[in-house]
Amino acid sequence: MPVLKVRLLGDPVLREQASNITEITDELRVLAESMFDTMYAEEGVGLAAPQIGISQRLIVVDPHEDDVRPFALLNPEIVEFGPQRERGEEGCLSIPGLKDVVERSYRCVVEGLTLEGEKRVIEAEGLLARILQHEIDHLNGVLFIDRVSPLKRKLLLAKWQKVKPTA
Ligand code: ZN
Repeated sequence: MPVLKVRLLGDPVLREQASNITEITDELRVLAESMFDTMYAEEGVGLAAPQIGISQRLIVVDPHEDDVRPFALLNPEIVEFGPQRERGEEGCLSIPGLKDVVERSYRCVVEGLTLEGEKRVIEAEGLLARILQHEIDHLNGVLFIDRVSPLKRKLLLAKWQKVKPTA
């Protein structure tokens, strides 16, 4: 499958509310495959469809942990957040060169559909929970730089002006 071009900060598609997927088509399955290939080519641990310019609620995730197989999830929704918060460093394929510490729930429960149309419930913690929260944010037009303090965001955006790819 072709590796797709990852949209970068500044592209309006990253700020859209992505639409629900109502039908699982062959086209959608091909799209998911391409998203996996793109995620691996870019050495990411997750990718949301808006990042490749498709404003639909589809994510692919691979935390590279022994007990978690890579998976695609349609219309994912966080149905529960654990009370404990944790700070951890995040980056984003749409904002290459920038990283910062983001506070998120240590644990969350996510519901969605598999590519076979079956309901899937994921009880996640640690890195997987962080990836899921980050990717589902993308479906709502939210980026990790929105989840740091205004001052830090200002610094990140200033850095972005220097490091953003020009092509
Ligand atoms: Zn991201």
